[in-house]
Amino acid sequence: MQEGTMELMWRTSPMSGGNAHYVEALYEQYLVDPNAVPDEWRNYFDRLPHPDGSPAQDVPLGPIRDQFYQFGKRRLNGHAGTVETSGENKKQVKVLQLINAYRFRGHQQADIDPLNLRARVEVPDLELSFHQLTNADLDTPFQTGSLFLGKDVAPLKEIVEVLEKTYCRSIGCEFMHIVDTEEKRWLQQRFESVRSKPKFSKEVRRHVLERLTAAEGLENYLASKYPGTKRFGLEGGESFIPMMDEVIQRAGGYGTKEVVIGMAHRGRLNLLINILGKSPSELIEEFDGKKVNEQGSGDVKYHQGFSSNVMTPGGEVHLALAFNPSHLEIVAPVVEGSVRARQDRRDDTDGTKVLPISIHGDASMAGQGVVMETLQMSQTRAYRTGGTLHVVINNQVGFTTSHPLDTRSTEYCTDIAKMIQAPIFHVNGDDPDAVLHATQVAVDYRHQFKRDVVIDLVCYRRRGHNEADEPSGTQPMMYEKIKKHKSSREIYARRLVKEGLVSEDDTKEMMEKYRDDLQAGNHVANALVKEPNTSLFVNWTPYLGHEWTGDADTSIDMKRMQQLAARMCTIPDGIQVQRQVAKIYEDRRKMQAGGMAVNWGFAETLAYATLLDQGHGVRITGQDVGRGTFSHRHAVVHNQKDGSTYVPLEHIAEDQPRFTIHDSFLSEEAVLAFEYGYATTTPKALVIWEAQFGDFANGAQVVIDQFISSGESKWGRLCGLTMLLPHGYEGQGPEHSSARLERYLQLCAEHNMQVCVPTTPAQIFHLLRRQVIRPLRKPLIVMSPKSLLRHKEAVSSLEELANGKFQMVLADQGKLEAEKVKRVVLCAGKVYYDLAAYRAENERDDTAIVRIEQLYPFPKEELYEALKEYTNLEQVVWCQEEPLNQGAWYQSQHHMRVVADMLKNGMGRELKFAGRPASAAPAAGYMSVHTEQQRQLVNDAFNA
Ligand code: AMP
Repeated sequence: MQEGTMELMWRTSPMSGGNAHYVEALYEQYLVDPNAVPDEWRNYFDRLPHPDGSPAQDVPLGPIRDQFYQFGKRRLNGHAGTVETSGENKKQVKVLQLINAYRFRGHQQADIDPLNLRARVEVPDLELSFHQLTNADLDTPFQTGSLFLGKDVAPLKEIVEVLEKTYCRSIGCEFMHIVDTEEKRWLQQRFESVRSKPKFSKEVRRHVLERLTAAEGLENYLASKYPGTKRFGLEGGESFIPMMDEVIQRAGGYGTKEVVIGMAHRGRLNLLINILGKSPSELIEEFDGKKVNEQGSGDVKYHQGFSSNVMTPGGEVHLALAFNPSHLEIVAPVVEGSVRARQDRRDDTDGTKVLPISIHGDASMAGQGVVMETLQMSQTRAYRTGGTLHVVINNQVGFTTSHPLDTRSTEYCTDIAKMIQAPIFHVNGDDPDAVLHATQVAVDYRHQFKRDVVIDLVCYRRRGHNEADEPSGTQPMMYEKIKKHKSSREIYARRLVKEGLVSEDDTKEMMEKYRDDLQAGNHVANALVKEPNTSLFVNWTPYLGHEWTGDADTSIDMKRMQQLAARMCTIPDGIQVQRQVAKIYEDRRKMQAGGMAVNWGFAETLAYATLLDQGHGVRITGQDVGRGTFSHRHAVVHNQKDGSTYVPLEHIAEDQPRFTIHDSFLSEEAVLAFEYGYATTTPKALVIWEAQFGDFANGAQVVIDQFISSGESKWGRLCGLTMLLPHGYEGQGPEHSSARLERYLQLCAEHNMQVCVPTTPAQIFHLLRRQVIRPLRKPLIVMSPKSLLRHKEAVSSLEELANGKFQMVLADQGKLEAEKVKRVVLCAGKVYYDLAAYRAENERDDTAIVRIEQLYPFPKEELYEALKEYTNLEQVVWCQEEPLNQGAWYQSQHHMRVVADMLKNGMGRELKFAGRPASAAPAAGYMSVHTEQQRQLVNDAFNA
């Protein structure tokens, strides 16, 4: 490598950022073994002044040379001696390599599987012979290098013993994939200095036993009272309970005020009762079939969420267990969104005050794509939450899949987390002391570095997938072992008895006391606060109990509106705005002054400005939201001089609430789930997710089905999330035309959400304002336009913005004589403008065109009002751009027929369809076909 290249690398950003650590790590490796680094680096390092005193060769003096020299010196000082790489001391280098080998691969030899079923691979790097060392060297003293052994020199025997104890007992540590040297050193210190086994006090260990007894006690109690009833018990993974107890207590000690937990069904009832403090008698009532929610469908008991406060050394902490559908892992991004919302509310920019905990199953962690998406968001600006604590309840079987050749291709179920350089601690669930240590390190690591960390609790599942399931049919060998295997509590109790910390009688007493408490219906979570401090969480009362209404006063004083419009169009001097963007802002200034009709971008942006002014925060994310996929928004202005950005909506008022806009990373599923979590935690704000094209939301279908459309009915959780889904047939082919309106309409019932197709700037202005000004919180699905963003007819006046409202139905805008009207064409969306153009061109004053701007809840009365004056009707047509089997036709025609029947001649039977023929794909791929179909369907609307 040329010196010039090296200097250049150092100075340029990637090198001087995170990659500097990489180079340092290489240099460290080089100091240990020059042959271990690539040739070009070795050649370069060879020419540096060696920190042991050998002279520099031909590298010129300069910052980079100094950098390495100082670094090398530091390393050597740390070693307090000289690492010799030649002659008789060559073995010293090998010893240092052996130390690193344990750090890299010790986990593969660790004793982490309570059932001992895991085949341990051969790890030659951990053999002395691999490093050209022999038993004869065991008594030879060597430098201990960076090993946290407590002394600089120790016999090889002792070094190996420390390494074995640290890396090959009940905790398998993986952290050498982390690039940051400080983090790695921190982790090494935490494990090596105590050989992965700190000495916990008698009180601490008694407490662990007590929590284990609680974990086992609950399952035994339920098993005897409700044998064969599904509860997805924790048996086999009982250490999870002392672990969670420790996480919450320790995080509380760090000043955490809220903890949000996402978890699937296994062990959930145990967590609810023993950690969150749900009342046992309530659970028993649920087992007996009591309804939890009087309204809605409700959900099974092992999907229920819960909230409570517990006391910790740092004060009261609010706990929230998120409601969970059966779809594994999908709750993880929901939790992140909820956490971020709480952090934003508290201005907790580094994540100290709110902690997310994601509890995974081993098979789902390895199998579900949303895990990757959620990890990927962990350090991004829009989604980071200061690090998530991941816990895998690893029972080594996914439903019935347990053969290593079937479960996954990765070594561990947690390997995906290496992608974001999260440290991973695999820990034997039958060693609760080790579990406690891994837990403490994990919580401390998250607190220190604000990054994700994973605890893989390796355990087993004592029963089948659920309690009605017989597992030995598919896992005969595993269950043969499990049958003979003592419980974690029993193993731990015996250990403590043997060590003289408790007596046999103590352990029995603990079990009896727990059982008595349960039977008496007492709370059994030891830190539960009976009268919780409600200021720790949001008060939802103002939003509860509202009947559906489409009405809201969304008008605004004209003068104030224009002032706000002026602010949202102001870009400070010194920001060089790109030419087309400058034109957009110039036009907006004209619109603000009343010199130009208002377009979509102006009205939408002004809706945000007015809401911010009225105290409602606004958060918008999606793949292209700053600019808008079709370049209509430009809410983020990029300075052409230096690439910096300016967001005018952040400068509406001194004390305005938060305006957040972020282009998301390229995910739909995790991102939409995150925004659902955010919206269900932030009732006051307008929270928007915008799809790049509407149909891209189908990658997030689980979120739409399991949360957005049904969360209120299943769990009573309100959600005001808005989804903007570009939709419209413009000849762009099957993938870019349809937002799959029919799918949303199919999910509509019981006023669960709103599906709207606004067609004018004033309509989107009032629709967005209505979404937060009304106290009602319901998801809003918007089929938003593409070409209409620039359509010369799709404009509004300032007057319509200031004094209008969202109209669920737009009556005919023409000057028709009502009695002459023989036909009404009903439609929604952009096709209206094609119909209006046809009518004007063909002078069809016998046909009225009525837009249904809200398809659900269906505005029957408003539609009737728009139609009732046409007393001589002969034909009612529903016209849509979508094919017959898609769009609104099948889902909404019965509503239209009901209204048509209310008309004078009972027109329900006369309702006809004009649209594209049924089609497997959403749209044609050829512009010529599209154009012909569009011409035909408009023609049909008037003439068929
Ligand atoms: P949490 O902070 O999530 O534990 O919520 C605290 C309390 O606020 C819950 O017990 C509910 O009573 C209420 N709450 C939270 N989120 C919602 C929501 N999306 N809809 C209705 N009530 C909610």
